[in-house]
Amino acid sequence: MRLPNDSKVGRLFIRTFGCQMNRYDSERLVEILGKHQWELVEDYRQADLIFINTCTVRDKAEQKAFSYLGRLKPLKRSRPDLVVALGGCVAQQHGEELLRRLPHLDLVVGTHSIREVPAMIARYETTGERQASVGFSYDFGDEVDGRSLASRPEVSAYVTIMRGCDNFCTYCIVPIVRGREVSRPSKEIIREVESLVERGVRAVTLLGQNVNSYGLRVTGEPDFAGLLRLLARVEGLLRIRFTTSHPKDLSSSLMHCFADLEPLCPHIHLPVQSGSDPILQLMKRGYTRAHYLQQVRRLRAIREDVAISSDMIVGFPGEGEDDFQQTLSLMEEVSFESIFSFKYSDRPQTAASRLGGKVPEEVKLRRLQTLQSLQERLTMERNKAQVGEISQVLVEGPSQAGGSQLSGRTPHNRVVNFLGTPQLVGEELPVLITAAHAHSLEGVVCVKESSSLHAVKERSWCGK
Ligand code: SF4
Repeated sequence: MRLPNDSKVGRLFIRTFGCQMNRYDSERLVEILGKHQWELVEDYRQADLIFINTCTVRDKAEQKAFSYLGRLKPLKRSRPDLVVALGGCVAQQHGEELLRRLPHLDLVVGTHSIREVPAMIARYETTGERQASVGFSYDFGDEVDGRSLASRPEVSAYVTIMRGCDNFCTYCIVPIVRGREVSRPSKEIIREVESLVERGVRAVTLLGQNVNSYGLRVTGEPDFAGLLRLLARVEGLLRIRFTTSHPKDLSSSLMHCFADLEPLCPHIHLPVQSGSDPILQLMKRGYTRAHYLQQVRRLRAIREDVAISSDMIVGFPGEGEDDFQQTLSLMEEVSFESIFSFKYSDRPQTAASRLGGKVPEEVKLRRLQTLQSLQERLTMERNKAQVGEISQVLVEGPSQAGGSQLSGRTPHNRVVNFLGTPQLVGEELPVLITAAHAHSLEGVVCVKESSSLHAVKERSWCGK
């Protein structure tokens, strides 16, 4: 490959595994490389650079990334000029060793090295030496100017407010691969959000491993509730979301933001992981079942309709049938909107990997299936309760269902599909919910006639 130049644009293909943080890093990479004449392609076979953004939080995600990388071997053999790069947590964890193990890999890009990629490509191109960069950097300076959304405006955008985590939950590798917790200066965050809104963004999701502890270790900075109050003043910003929250750091001032701040969506992702005290203690989560339930009650007393989602781990070392039943009963008690659920897997260098009492794979699988069917019932009950209600839906784009269907989200983060024209993307519209499905709702846009709302007949959107 020759470097992109005036007569040649570089073609970039990205495959992203894992969480929102990784998706955000992939978006940043597109923007950073866009400034160096790289454009995104959808077919990896057309690419000059294939970037695999990896996740190592669970063994399965890591194995998937390695298997994808393995499948690129024949392509690299037939096209030696192709650049193959591995980024994200797997790159951070294994570093330069990956270059020794995988001869068809050219670049190893750690979690804090996204901005280094153009220079790494240039060095590789000029010297022929394969590159690895896995240092930690706590300078957020590139994030504001790295956003050039003019070419690809979206309705909603992610904004990083902090990096790393200091919690060291015993099963989690994040503090090792993403580093210690650092909050981004509030002025930079506000400047970035203002610039996004000027470019047409209507909703932002604030990202961090534990946003609730934002600003706590920095003098002169607001805490997270204070940051939300500042952001709620940004003119033109319709919606604010955030993820992820740690239950032990959910403060009363943050809870009150749900009642006070109009743009703050009534949805919180509050991972509980288990409903059993002995397991929560082994996980070093820093709260008990009773405390978690009390936080939920306090939050609902302040904002009754708040939607709560969670993460669940089944088969943590030492988890017996009683512990698992405690998890199921907590799920019933809270009635989560949705959950992400996982079978526990040992991660290298974590304290839990050294614990005894490992749960057999078949038991983990059975528990996961039981837990997921319970959640399906809870989600379905909640979705059915929406039928007949009118929700404000922020239209995000065409629905995956195709046709003239659009897709959007309610403030409670429920996905709604409905018939509509592309001009509606970016609008917030009242939608009458007409049907409930397992993972989404169906609706009809309402129009205002005199003082009441009427559902628009579906065929009027079809132009018939
Ligand atoms: S809070 Fe716990 S689970 Fe979440 S990133 Fe930090 S260490 Fe991992």
